[in-house]
Amino acid sequence: MKITDVKPYAVWVGHRNQMLVKVETDEGIYGWGESGFSGRELGVKGIVEHYREFLLGRDPMRRGALWQEMYRSQYFEGGRTLTAAISAIDIALHDIVGKKLGVPVYELLGGKNRDTIPVFATTSAPYGPEMIDEAREFMARGITAFRMSYDKMGTDTDGLFEPRESMANSAEWLIKTREALGNHAIIGIDYHHRLNVAETASFCQMMPPHTLDFIEEPIRDETPEAYESLRKLTDVPFAIGEEFASKWQFLPYIERGITNYARVDICNVGGFTESMKVAGWAESHYIDLMPHNPLGPICTAASVHLSAAVPNFSWLEVNMERAENPDLEIFPEQVLFEGNVYAVPDKPGLGVEVDESKLNVPFKFWDPPHLHRRDGSVTNW
Ligand SMILES: [Mg+2]
Repeated sequence: MKITDVKPYAVWVGHRNQMLVKVETDEGIYGWGESGFSGRELGVKGIVEHYREFLLGRDPMRRGALWQEMYRSQYFEGGRTLTAAISAIDIALHDIVGKKLGVPVYELLGGKNRDTIPVFATTSAPYGPEMIDEAREFMARGITAFRMSYDKMGTDTDGLFEPRESMANSAEWLIKTREALGNHAIIGIDYHHRLNVAETASFCQMMPPHTLDFIEEPIRDETPEAYESLRKLTDVPFAIGEEFASKWQFLPYIERGITNYARVDICNVGGFTESMKVAGWAESHYIDLMPHNPLGPICTAASVHLSAAVPNFSWLEVNMERAENPDLEIFPEQVLFEGNVYAVPDKPGLGVEVDESKLNVPFKFWDPPHLHRRDGSVTNW
């Protein structure tokens, strides 16, 4: 079997751009992958076009070797754009190999550890009693892990984000949520790296012990030492890693105990090939994967196969709106959400079909909100 084409699609799907890759072969078998470097899709498309030049004519079964070649056959190694492109191609190659062998992708990863995939959901109501009601509804339907919606995160405030105002309000409502739902609820918050070390420490100290089961990315991740410093100031478990673009970025976080849930993003970290290495490494430190799953049906399918195959797993992120209203026009076959879990598909490959003719809405320029403080200075999205 030989690769005959590698087609990048940076297209508008529904309400956002998606960066998809189709890899075709001379046997008529093809695979789909998705890249997770949201907001910079055209950069990834350019890298896929570079890789296409040497992937044509190559054997897709040798996916591990092709990963090495894509990562190492250049002087300037690593980086999010490169591994986002490698991720999409690696996922597509696994789709091809699964179809060729007639097995679902999880069989290529060691087989299933679980039959269904537990999820964590995110509330959508603003902070207030409705948010607690929404969490209560999650629990009633068997989703006991959830993240609370953020307060004043800059999306409803014309890009204004003031950390201290957000922290005070968040702490108040998180305390009320814990009081209302008790210890059976698993409660987290994603601060989307909008705080600094001192702010995060104060935020955690505003709440009694076990208000939170995890805090996701309160600060930026460039400096592991900053998380080590933060670790000394709070005992709330950290959920870190969705931006990480290789096992090397996970290295200090796993080895120094500064991620407690590994937020692996299969569409950024380097596909199945790299995710399985991170998973094994995390397993040796008794850290569960809590995969990031913010994109489209290909990302979800890949995340479900990964989640099925690893022993050390907590919950897969679910976007309830997307899970309950799947886009069956563009993706007529996809992994389906069954009330409170994802089903693990048994079809060969990923179990996703894409109607290529419907990928016809061109890329639209979109940038994340550029957040600012009240004094006019720039802060993190
Ligand atoms: Mg996050």
